[in-house]
Amino acid sequence: MTRDEALALDAADPLAFTRDRFALPEGTIYLDGNSLGALPAGTSDHVARVMQEEWGRDLISSWNRHDWIRLPQRIGARIAALVGAEEDEVIACDSTSVNLYKLLCAALPLRPDRTTVLIEDGGFPTDRYIAAEVCARAGRTLRAVPRGELASSIDGDTALVLLTHVDYRSGAVADMAGITAAAHGAGALALWDLSHSAGAVAVELGAARADFAVGCGYKYLNGGPGAPAWLYARRDLHDALATPIPGWLGHAAPFDFEQDYRPAPGIARMLCGTPPVLAMAGLERGLMQFGGVDTSALFAKGRALGDLAIALVEDRCAGHPLTLASPRDGTLRGSHVSFAHPHAYALCQALIARGVVGDFRTPDLLRLGFAPLYLRHVDVWDAVAALGDVLDSGEWDDPRHHRRNAVT
Ligand SMILES: *Cc1c(COP(=O)(O)O)cnc(C)c1O
Repeated sequence: MTRDEALALDAADPLAFTRDRFALPEGTIYLDGNSLGALPAGTSDHVARVMQEEWGRDLISSWNRHDWIRLPQRIGARIAALVGAEEDEVIACDSTSVNLYKLLCAALPLRPDRTTVLIEDGGFPTDRYIAAEVCARAGRTLRAVPRGELASSIDGDTALVLLTHVDYRSGAVADMAGITAAAHGAGALALWDLSHSAGAVAVELGAARADFAVGCGYKYLNGGPGAPAWLYARRDLHDALATPIPGWLGHAAPFDFEQDYRPAPGIARMLCGTPPVLAMAGLERGLMQFGGVDTSALFAKGRALGDLAIALVEDRCAGHPLTLASPRDGTLRGSHVSFAHPHAYALCQALIARGVVGDFRTPDLLRLGFAPLYLRHVDVWDAVAALGDVLDSGEWDDPRHHRRNAVT
């Protein structure tokens, strides 16, 4: 494909309008929306307004007047629409890591006689660390198996299967309906980490009968750095859930100030303390960017951008030791594509120096994310041209590109 052909695709793209909803810096091609979503154009003003008018002027009355108290539910309803859940099955709160802890602790007592939690080998570390800790405290065994063997490893000892829907390195999509059905067939529960899925690929938690899920607010949901996360539990499980951190806002009547804890009805029992209103305001604004967007067309665009990247890299960068580390089939891939290269870190830094921002994942992956709300075909074309130039010129081998930063 030529650059003009990429421009023609953008000119004909019915979703091209959503790019204008973002405040993207001039001269940067941002391929890291899978790690930190871009700033929506309206977020700064919105958060400033919440600060000045709601906090500054209306002060504490804003909990009622501006419905601050229901931000976790309001935002949860917006997220539910993106992941195939009912409005009252999702709530925004805490971080993904903390939500994993809460849900795992709440889930294991539902399967008291089962010894094992199954997890994928090589998954995102926080999931593994937290599952190991919860298992140790609950007297269960954490068993890690390769991702492809999870479904067949579920047996009568399995209490719960925990896995990431879109793998953070390869971008491979797991079969949510199939693995959940395998878990249920054996009497086990399934908890899905949707950090790299929500807002990027079609997710049908309800149709899959998934039990639990967690996800991030700052990746494809564009909620801002460290935005609140969210959690999902299927409605029929709510009454049986006991949070390990029973704070007052998960109480049935927080403002009765009762001395004994009584869980709120529904998903609200998974709340703990006061919501971070300013951060929630940013997340709500981030989610509004999906308004009026046909998400199946949006997710198809993400796949098409990934397909284009693969085709262009294999053409433009042929002869360099760059190998595809993601599924070639777009239907089996999230919205990012990884390439292995022996000097992927330096390569990534050299690209960043040229304004093409992807990231590095150890040990050898260059990871390029294609957030379909704000990326164009021509961005993919220009990014691959830069990658080709960086490889051909050898400029990646400059010592300054080898220096490791704290965040990669
Ligand atoms: C990004 C990510 C997280 C992040 O967890 P935090 O608590 O927000 O730091 C967790 N799990 C997966 C799979 C992720 O990709």
